Amino acid sequence: MDRETFKHWSHKAVDWSANYMETVADKPVRAQTRPGDIAAQLPPSPPEAGEDMAQILADLDRIIMPGMTHWQHPRFFAYFPANASPPSIIAEQITAAMGAQCMLWQTSPAATELETVALDWLRQMIGLPATFEGVIQDSASSATLAAILTGRERALSFSGNQRGLSQGPTIRVYCSEQVHSSIDKAVWIAGIGQDNLVKIATNDRHQIDTGALEAAIVADRQAGLRPATVIAAVGGTSIGASDNLNAVGAIARRHDLFMHVDAAWAGSALICPEHRHLIDGVELADSFVFNPHKWLLTNFDCSAHFVRSPVDLVRTLAIQPDYLRSQTSTGLNYSEWSVPLGRRFRALKLWFVIRSYGVEALRQMIRNHCLWANELAQKISEHKDFEIITQPALSLFTFRYAPDGVANLDDLNARLLSAINGDGRIYLTQTRHAGAYVIRFQVGQLYTSEQDVALAWDVIREIAGSLDA
Ligand code: PLP
Repeated sequence: MDRETFKHWSHKAVDWSANYMETVADKPVRAQTRPGDIAAQLPPSPPEAGEDMAQILADLDRIIMPGMTHWQHPRFFAYFPANASPPSIIAEQITAAMGAQCMLWQTSPAATELETVALDWLRQMIGLPATFEGVIQDSASSATLAAILTGRERALSFSGNQRGLSQGPTIRVYCSEQVHSSIDKAVWIAGIGQDNLVKIATNDRHQIDTGALEAAIVADRQAGLRPATVIAAVGGTSIGASDNLNAVGAIARRHDLFMHVDAAWAGSALICPEHRHLIDGVELADSFVFNPHKWLLTNFDCSAHFVRSPVDLVRTLAIQPDYLRSQTSTGLNYSEWSVPLGRRFRALKLWFVIRSYGVEALRQMIRNHCLWANELAQKISEHKDFEIITQPALSLFTFRYAPDGVANLDDLNARLLSAINGDGRIYLTQTRHAGAYVIRFQVGQLYTSEQDVALAWDVIREIAGSLDA
């Protein structure tokens, strides 16, 4: 593609993007296609000859778009937010144009140095102590994997990478049921095994029971096992549960465990000082992750991973074959802090976002989301046919439809959710809490307004009223 043609189609893509942002609110939030609908319209083999860009873009609209779920829709209240704000989209275009691999300082010094600075801005924004240093990972899952590997290596005196795990002690990792499934997956990949991920019971505030945690660690040690790591949740995915970091941290210190905090979703809210109590005690942690790609307007992917000792992380993940040695280096090579070698220039979009909005506007957005979620939860709690199951944690709460005389509420709520999402005006998802099927509601989308949240409540009541009990 020559430069003029590139310019022409890039401008078309910009127009397409702007039009998408203007019209997304008119589309059904969740794709209304059935499994296989999209694939059936695509040729099974690739074209031998290049095709016209006009045709490719036409097929984007005709075939692909009907199968998209719109995460930028103002009435997206499902899962968690994944905001692609205009400044982050602009930066992402530039990142794509440069196509730089930012794995070593030498492979793009500006990318490394901007990453250091932008992550320190973020650290200050969320109130993490200056003892933490940050790196951008592609996802919270990768950050958690890096943390679990570091905890494993620390517990094995950094011999696991060399010797493997088969001859060594059995490594144990601890967390509550409220942590995200990425912890389970990291434990699998790290060779520790699901059986050695000890899920500790929670108290009535859905926090890890620290008495039970300590008892499990002591019992494991007595049994000859090797306690290595504890994972604390701040804003767990299911209901937004947050552990007491002071209490977990004290145990981690007492038993010399590596402590990782997963605040993937909730971490962004820490830019508001009134939410910082959620991380009281974080100075006791070794590792902390949150995702600006969720609630801080930086499009996927951009996960901020902070560690107290980069030395341990680098000792776990650095590998230096001859072909990666640099003639000039500051010694700071972020690929040595991550599982993948190749790294996109993600700091650029973070820098664009923070500079373009300023921290105060970001705070205001989060405050609005939390306020609207709380107001809706209040209204739902006042309705005789609905009940709040878990109170708002920041901007996330769970509820269910519970009219008098219905025996199978799980089935009723599953049908309600399916009908709501089939309607298309809003999008919600479910979880299970204390054995019950419940509906999650989170507010976190950049374009959501108070009216969108109000409309959601209208839709929920209208559709609930139309269901057979
Ligand atoms: N941890 C928590 C608490 C989450 O809510 C999520 C995603 O929902 C993750 C981890 C996984 O995040 P990522 O997709 O960045 O791996």
